[in-house]
Amino acid sequence: GEQRGGGPPCFDILLMTELVYIGIGSNIGNRIQNCQQALITLVECTGGSLRRRSSWYQTQPWGRDDQDDFINGVAEMEMAMPPHQLLEVCQEIECLMGRKESGCWGPRIIDLDILLYGSQIVRSPDLEIPHPCLHQRNFVLVPLAEIAPDLVHPVLHETIHSLCSSVSDRKQVLKI
Ligand code: AMP
Repeated sequence: GEQRGGGPPCFDILLMTELVYIGIGSNIGNRIQNCQQALITLVECTGGSLRRRSSWYQTQPWGRDDQDDFINGVAEMEMAMPPHQLLEVCQEIECLMGRKESGCWGPRIIDLDILLYGSQIVRSPDLEIPHPCLHQRNFVLVPLAEIAPDLVHPVLHETIHSLCSSVSDRKQVLKI
């Protein structure tokens, strides 16, 4: 009979994509426009697609009160770009948009955080996924719960809805 497997292998181009949740924030300048611009650039630079976006929220700053409120939101994207490369892209966008280092907790034109990357767990010095503060902050949990309440946190094994209803953070988060 005919022998199989001798010829060139048949390549299936498998694009392994994941659902990725990105936290977006700004508290300088036109904050909503900054957030929107960062999101558009993120789609362009990752080759991913934007599947859902939360409302924008006006939120009280964390850590330091001597600064303006933030605008925060969360985007659900589908992408094939691996986590560390995605972090580089996020940092490039922050840099391109003119973010100056203003120290921990300081004001910022744009802040991009990788909240969740599918159900992957990453623990390296420069990148932790799930984001280590995700479950402690209203300004992340409220917008995330708006678009993905049933999503299960891969480390805590609780839904976002459940984490959101039990969080002790009392900072105000107002839908705008
Ligand atoms: P930030 O000032 O909030 O933008 O934090 C930036 C620092 O957090 C960078 O040095 C990153 O390497 C680090 N980092 C760790 N995990 C994450 C994550 N999941 N998303 C974004 N930055 C992260």
